[in-house]
Amino acid sequence: KTFEDCSFSSQLKNAIAKQGYEKPTSIQCQALPIVLSGRDIIGIAKTGSGKTAAFVLPMIVHIMDQPELAKEEGPIGVICAPTRELAHQIYLECKKFSKLHGIRVSAVYGGMSKLDQFKELKAGCEIVVATPGRLIDLLKMKALTMLRATYLVLDEADRMFDLGFEPQIRSIVGQIRPDRQTLLFSATMPGRVEKLAREILSDPVRVTV
Ligand code: AMP
Repeated sequence: KTFEDCSFSSQLKNAIAKQGYEKPTSIQCQALPIVLSGRDIIGIAKTGSGKTAAFVLPMIVHIMDQPELAKEEGPIGVICAPTRELAHQIYLECKKFSKLHGIRVSAVYGGMSKLDQFKELKAGCEIVVATPGRLIDLLKMKALTMLRATYLVLDEADRMFDLGFEPQIRSIVGQIRPDRQTLLFSATMPGRVEKLAREILSDPVRVTV
């Protein structure tokens, strides 16, 4: 399999090549066709597998496919991650592929000025990468709305549960329209994560690396 097999624009293919990504990793081979087809997915994969690009690249396609980009209505892609370190890594991966396309990415997590993040979100973005607690705070402050969000990623779901973020995740999911595409990635699938997946994903395909 190659990235040529994916329905990526030549711009996106160039950006992938520029990153030195010669061929898709195993999780990317399995996940990209499923996610690009619009289906929900459960990806059992660890950091280092290339799972981030497996959800970021189709997200860029999803955003570019939106018929109208009304800039003031909040993010289209919402990514939740357990820690600020992981959120920052995901932010950097988004930036690699969003720049060319004029897609704006905001990262919101603890340890950074909430006021600055508030202002940035108010200015508008197409992608938000967040830790659950900080995202809830900013939603309460009406820094953003989820009215436009149609692509939701929960990354390292098992770790988010370990850190006690289940209520925050449920609250965030509850604010995103039901006709969204939902992607859940986790290194392990304990019972509580399975239960959440059954509740919030619609007929998901499961892939394991
Ligand atoms: P991740 O598991 O998403 O944290 O990715 C691990 C590392 O692999 C990151 O540094 C990525 O930039 C890199 N990476 C992702 N996909 C590919 C690929 N297809 N070819 C080479 N490197 C990749």
